[in-house]
Amino acid sequence: MNLILLGPPGAGKGTQAQLLQHERGLVQLSTGDMLRAAVASGSELGKKAKGIMEKGELVPDGLMVGLIRDRIAQPDCAKGFILDGFPRTEAQARALDQMLAETGKKLDRVIEMEVDEKALTERIVGRYTCAVCGTGYHEKFKRPKVEGVCDVCGSKQFVRRKDDNAETMKTRMAAYRAQTEPLLPYYSGRGVLRKVDGMASMDEVHRQISGLLAGA
Ligand code: ADP
Ligand code: ADP
Ligand code: ZN
Repeated sequence: MNLILLGPPGAGKGTQAQLLQHERGLVQLSTGDMLRAAVASGSELGKKAKGIMEKGELVPDGLMVGLIRDRIAQPDCAKGFILDGFPRTEAQARALDQMLAETGKKLDRVIEMEVDEKALTERIVGRYTCAVCGTGYHEKFKRPKVEGVCDVCGSKQFVRRKDDNAETMKTRMAAYRAQTEPLLPYYSGRGVLRKVDGMASMDEVHRQISGLLAGA
């Protein structure tokens, strides 16, 4: 099964992709995580993406399409993948359609996660992540069971994203509205779009998504 999780920054895409990955054995393809790894490694892609990401703007389509093309060709993606953060523009969506057609794969569902803008900012400014295993946390909505210790791997190191601040959030929201929202009619026209209430609790959102996948 191949899925896209679509929604504004902070909607809960990464959180839900992690849950689905563990439960269904699908591979989570987060372009944000892939880009942050490229920045950390100092690769050519990382050098190009760093400043753009810090401003909250979108990395050029050509770079993103190349990144995803290489990744979904890997053997671990044969069982299915969850795209989290891609596509973000119509050009990326068209390129994805073409890649899937070329490799005989199909898109089963695009899940739209709807969240109020005020809640998004609160989610973004309180977000942090385990530096070792990447599990996501939130100051208010998802604290580790033992304070300061990752539930999954026991690490005591956590990181915050440089772009997770109220100022950059404005640019990211504007990019979402202008460039990503047009994907909703694009996928709705193909009959694969389904909507969940992203304002609900993490468990409830997960239940809603699972329900929508049952018939896919
Ligand atoms: P969020 O989940 O908060 O929306 P991401 O981690 O998906 O953020 O993305 C972080 C940044 O990485 C984006 O603001 C953008 O600069 C870049 N990025 C990630 N995915 C894409 C993409 N598909 N196209 C262009 N830029 C991207
Ligand atoms: P995205 O990948 O769409 O940018 P994340 O999954 O990283 O979003 O979620 C953003 C922040 O909000 C994280 O700190 C996460 O723990 C928290 N979060 C995710 N889903 C919910 C939810 N349904 N209710 C409250 N907080 C949430
Ligand atoms: Zn961890």
